[in-house]
Amino acid sequence: MNPAFTTPPSHHTSTRLDRPVNLQRVLDTLVNNLEGMAYRCLLDRNWTMRFVSQGCLRLTGYVASALLDNQDTSWEQLTHPDDRLRVRQEITAAIAQGQRFTVHYAITTRNGDIRRVKEQGTMVVDEAGQQVLEGFIEDVTETHVTLEALAHAELRYRQIFEHAREGIFQTTQDGRYLSANPALARLYGYDSPSALITDLSDIERRLYVQPQRRERFQKLMAAYGEISNFESEVYRRDGSRIWISENAHSVRKSNGEFICFEGTVQDITERRSQLEQLERQANYDGLTGLANRNLLRDRIGPAIDHAERMGHFLAVVFIDLDHFKLINDSLGHDVGDQLLVEIAQRMRSSVRSSDTVSRHSGDEFVLLLNEHFRASTVIAHLQRVLKQVNQPVSLLGREFQVGASMGVALYPQDGTDAQSLLKHADVAMYAAKERGRNNFQFFTPELNKIADERLNLATAMRYGLEQNEFSVVYQPKFNAQREMVGVEALARWRSVSCGTVGPDRFIPIAEETGLIRELTEAVLRQAFAAAAAWSALPGQPVLTLAVNLSAKLFLTDDLVEWVHALVQQSGLPTDQVELEITEGVFLDDSARAISTLTAFKTLGFKVAMDDFGTGYSSLSYLRHLPLDTIKIDRSLITDMEQLEDVAMIARAVVSLCQNLRKTVVAEGVENQAQFDMLCAHGCDQFQGYLLSKPLPLEALQTLLAQAGHRSNF
Ligand code: C2E
Ligand code: CA
Ligand code: CA
Repeated sequence: MNPAFTTPPSHHTSTRLDRPVNLQRVLDTLVNNLEGMAYRCLLDRNWTMRFVSQGCLRLTGYVASALLDNQDTSWEQLTHPDDRLRVRQEITAAIAQGQRFTVHYAITTRNGDIRRVKEQGTMVVDEAGQQVLEGFIEDVTETHVTLEALAHAELRYRQIFEHAREGIFQTTQDGRYLSANPALARLYGYDSPSALITDLSDIERRLYVQPQRRERFQKLMAAYGEISNFESEVYRRDGSRIWISENAHSVRKSNGEFICFEGTVQDITERRSQLEQLERQANYDGLTGLANRNLLRDRIGPAIDHAERMGHFLAVVFIDLDHFKLINDSLGHDVGDQLLVEIAQRMRSSVRSSDTVSRHSGDEFVLLLNEHFRASTVIAHLQRVLKQVNQPVSLLGREFQVGASMGVALYPQDGTDAQSLLKHADVAMYAAKERGRNNFQFFTPELNKIADERLNLATAMRYGLEQNEFSVVYQPKFNAQREMVGVEALARWRSVSCGTVGPDRFIPIAEETGLIRELTEAVLRQAFAAAAAWSALPGQPVLTLAVNLSAKLFLTDDLVEWVHALVQQSGLPTDQVELEITEGVFLDDSARAISTLTAFKTLGFKVAMDDFGTGYSSLSYLRHLPLDTIKIDRSLITDMEQLEDVAMIARAVVSLCQNLRKTVVAEGVENQAQFDMLCAHGCDQFQGYLLSKPLPLEALQTLLAQAGHRSNF
């Protein structure tokens, strides 16, 4: 199972260090998507594995534990007998010269298949001073296209095809006819199949009255591989309209490669009542078949009345799928739709027939649960729903686990009308997200209190922005020679009413209230002015000024122009400015985020991925993003000198980032041992309390005035 999207992330830095890092999760996220297995092994005759990532299962058919310490088998055993000697010679030769190695060979998987693999690795010395190998092994077995003996089948098919009374077709993915039978030609008003094939070249626009029907057809096909009784209104050649019902499936080669859609068409114009269809569209969601918002609203009222009469609870449950956008963006909308259809189906099957499951929007669902006499039975019911949702879903041949954040409002105590119940369920859903996702929360008065406190802070922030209560501190970054190469600007706030408030508290509130723009403007103005001033001093080496841009800012249309104007006003060259962004930027609309970043880069700005390792980006995903720098989050640095697995992951990330030719920065370097280890592995830059805490402007200026700006640690 691929856990890349399973465990709760911590987008807010405030929760980041509250719990230990789930190293397995981090490693899986980072390396599993590389379609291979990361490992560490001994240089012994078995290649004894001390660590393998979960990719092991997909690669070899063995679970990781079977290989560890040669539990059930050894890597030497898996290596094809014909290759064993050569592999050992090649690896030994490379490491003798202190080089990385790449070897190609065959392995025998658990079920006896022979797979070709490519192994890349390097020798490292572990904490015990022992020499070990670390690297990746990936499956490179050529998928030779198996040519199908279609010809024979075709002959038989012809007979049926020519004489059928139903229309029969084969179409391409992009909506062209490959073949059509005489019945279909008649149905659509053409003289012959060939006339139909040549004339009807764009099914989407020429055939369907609603062009979206074609898209829907394809989505269903993608989801199920077949459709039945798919009813649509279509144009005949003369422009008249008929209703048809299609049954179709996708035809694939045995290796899964798509060939065409194939199916039959029946004229159902008479059978069909147009009214019925209108009713359905008004009340049901087209993709999942669930009730839509309208129907939900219609049902809450009667459900409340019923609950009141019977004296039971009505639970309104707001559900938001965790990281759906990420799946949708990284795997494509068709896959996203497929996922929604599957999850909708599970939700429907985990409620009773008197309950309602509706799709509210995108990946948001609302449940109406009737006839609960105790809150405890609601809880039990929700646990079942969550469990259902959590079952692995297989998409594109891989297994994904989806989490859901659910918020519950109960009638009567949390609201007595539809509107307040929905609103409070929504509030509770956000609380569930903050609790780390994949759980449910009830709307409670305490939740309200928390919301109130946030409101107070937001008010204080508005005032603080007017009164210039926000200042900026600068944390230097150093290279391996301990020369200062840049600084990161970090916001600070001393509020007259709330005292000193840390960025981990005020940044999220600024984001929620929309004050982030004003706040960022205050920070950028101060930081750009300061950097312009020190870069104008004679004899100063060039320092890069890094500033943090909240993901929320990427939703505004003029972000690039706005930041550019601020830099220009300060006189600082854009190539001395690095924009630190987080993965959140790519969650909503990654195509748009990429074009925004590209625009920044065209203007000369540098771009850094901040807090790498806390979220869900894999390194293979980063490859495609316009980034100059990757900042490894301090949760992967903390304790690396003590914990072997932390060290291994940190090293893996550093070397993989180097492969991507990005500047690698380690954050939160707090002691010499961490610095030395990171240095040894080729980390480019370092930031952390060991080298310097964030400094007020005057202190930074004093440091800059000293020759060389070397860190005096
Ligand atoms: P960040 O961007 O990851 O910034 C680094 C944080 O780590 C800073 O916390 C810094 O003081 C802290 N830090 C640096 N070295 C060490 C170390 O060796 N050990 C430890 N334990 N911590 C270290 P800070 O200033 O509290 O900022 C927290 C977060 O708030 C930042 O994390 C950033 O995400 C956000 N933030 C701060 N200023 C701004 C801003 O102007 N705009 C935006 N959008 N976000 C900001
Ligand atoms: Ca940062
Ligand atoms: Ca960071």
